[in-house]
Amino acid sequence: LTFPINSSLTSRLDNDSKKLPIYQHKASLQQAVKDNSFLVVTGETGSGKTTQLPQYLHQAGFWRDGRIGVTQPRRVAAITVAQRVSQEMRCSLGREVGYQVRFDDCTTEDTVVKYMTDGCLLREILADPVLSQYSVIVLDEAHERSLNTDILLGLLKQTISPTDKASKGRSVPLKVVVMSATLETDKLSVFLGGCPVFTIPGRTFPVISRFGCAIGQKDTESTVYLKEVVKVALDVHTCEMSGDILVFLTGQSEIEKACDMLYEKAESIDYRYDVQDRTVEGLLILPLYGSMPTDQQKQIFQPPPPGIRKCVVATNIAATSLTIDGIKYIVDSGFVKQLNHNSRVGMDILEVVPISKSEAQQRAGRAGRTSAGKCFRIYNQEFWEKCMPDYTVPEIQRTSLTSVILTLKCLGVHDVIRFPYLDRPEERFIMEALKQLYQCDAIDRRGKVTLLGGLMVEFPLPPGLTRALLQAATLGCEDLLLPVAAMLSVENIFIRPGHPAKQKEADEKHRMLAAQAGSCNDFTILLSVFEKCKASDDPSAWCKAHYIHWRALKSAFSVEAQLREILLRLRQRDFPMEKFDGNKSELFRRCLCAGYFTNVARRYCFEGFEKLFDQEGQLDWVIFHDVLATSRVYIRTVCPIRYDWVKDLLPKLHEVDVYDLSSVARQEVTDEEMAKWETKEAAKRQTEDYFKKLEKRND
Ligand code: ADP
Ligand code: MG
Repeated sequence: LTFPINSSLTSRLDNDSKKLPIYQHKASLQQAVKDNSFLVVTGETGSGKTTQLPQYLHQAGFWRDGRIGVTQPRRVAAITVAQRVSQEMRCSLGREVGYQVRFDDCTTEDTVVKYMTDGCLLREILADPVLSQYSVIVLDEAHERSLNTDILLGLLKQTISPTDKASKGRSVPLKVVVMSATLETDKLSVFLGGCPVFTIPGRTFPVISRFGCAIGQKDTESTVYLKEVVKVALDVHTCEMSGDILVFLTGQSEIEKACDMLYEKAESIDYRYDVQDRTVEGLLILPLYGSMPTDQQKQIFQPPPPGIRKCVVATNIAATSLTIDGIKYIVDSGFVKQLNHNSRVGMDILEVVPISKSEAQQRAGRAGRTSAGKCFRIYNQEFWEKCMPDYTVPEIQRTSLTSVILTLKCLGVHDVIRFPYLDRPEERFIMEALKQLYQCDAIDRRGKVTLLGGLMVEFPLPPGLTRALLQAATLGCEDLLLPVAAMLSVENIFIRPGHPAKQKEADEKHRMLAAQAGSCNDFTILLSVFEKCKASDDPSAWCKAHYIHWRALKSAFSVEAQLREILLRLRQRDFPMEKFDGNKSELFRRCLCAGYFTNVARRYCFEGFEKLFDQEGQLDWVIFHDVLATSRVYIRTVCPIRYDWVKDLLPKLHEVDVYDLSSVARQEVTDEEMAKWETKEAAKRQTEDYFKKLEKRND
């Protein structure tokens, strides 16, 4: 990918970057990184940390000792910022400046400034614990407290501490810069051994925030906020003086809906009478969310044509990761989509929840970067006081730690309890992760990574899906699971148009695709769509005709090829092989069961509804990919199974409780401790008896 660089653009970029608050501190920042192993840098969002600091380090010559790596918690941010910086440095993207995110590596041997997701850097540490390619690591957006950034903080602290042997593998010591928007910098500094904190002074303008009345204390599970947000945004457009609008919502489908609604309503505005500011003559509506195509994202940053007001409808990504100039008005829904671990059901659930007060302040602050601004909250003060927590709980304290604990164990960190966490996760979350790893055979009873666990850690996929994929590979039928894993790793492939007539047509086409797949197994449908599209003469036309996202499928093709490559590489190691007698449909579903037996559901039959179920009796037991909780709870991507197939696996879910996992968490287990466990075998047999009884009842 190359960009034509015209000289007027580059001189404009030059001038722009010299106006940023960080510019005056260039020399002292360069010096501070030279003088310290660890440095915390803080400053208001938009002061130039993400785009400028890596360039300053480049200019100071750090690249001579290795790459300058910059991590981002969000994939879109990594890509967008790399694009911007490559323009500023006048090189084509992927040369001196590049990026790497999951399944998309845009770097070459020439790349010296590399933006990447924190997850990518964690994988690199697995292959190269001393990060010998790098001279500096910049952990950006540390205030976001993403799970991977928190773990990286702990790992880098360990690597760099002088007592650690690992740092000996390097020619020059690694430098670590941790960047954070204001919050918690003292805590970071203390965690990193009292390292200096560099504060970039910046000026911000006052923002007046107003509460609304549509959402109150009782509306934490409401869906009315979407309509209200649209209404308020339109009010701002018609009643307020010129200046762009930034609307905060929670996710892609909702954002697309809101944009459709806004578009429809904006059409009917009569600019001669309805609008307060006579210089405003139109509204440009732009969505912004994680999985958006990058060419569309570029538009977000461009100033609108004269007379046109820009209205960006975004997820939380616009709160700190990306700064859009010209925003004067904020419309805040008060909600965010968040992954939360639910211990009761033992899995992560994607939930729409109220934001924290600090998050709300951060959102409001986006209106005051270049002049005074206004923030319109659609919720009332009672909602603020009663429903919104003061701070957002760090991800490490609220999501599943399974992948991370496996990574740590593979890195030789056996004592996962005493690992240096910035905020310690609850011990039961660590136990739960160990339990899940044990259940899918990634670690053994002694807490040691198994052959399978060593293979699993190589895949950038959730553990259940990886387990299913490896099961398929073991049985020689990976062609069934590779496309499925790829399809589950890209954005939603099914298009749902806003227009009712079109929506009906789309539903019809999707039903037809399901019928052609010949199954009510969602995984089979994904596989079938993948194969049909791939086999068609004109895949993009095929997608259009079937209301399928061509862009998503194109990424799925690429992801599938990458997963296949990983598998091919692993096959050269000690790879287990098994045989299976049975038909293809059963084989497929059994592989899924191997990974998803922790996600089993059984239809609960309410009294009086038995008739309904008789007709679809086969849907009795299912496994599913994930859970989404909005105003209702949904299990998504579902596959009917036979109880027989999981019944041998299910006791494993209970077996672990009888072992003492706390020693597994601390170290590898001694023979003596193993013996203690064996006496608990009796308890295990009880579990098995229980399931035998259950089975009888089931028959
Ligand atoms: P910080 O990391 O301190 O929040 P950034 O370095 O992200 O600040 O942003 C600094 C400036 O660069 C902002 O004014 C922002 O608008 C601008 N900027 C960043 N990315 C882009 C982009 N892709 N296109 C245009 N302007 C951008
Ligand atoms: Mg930034």
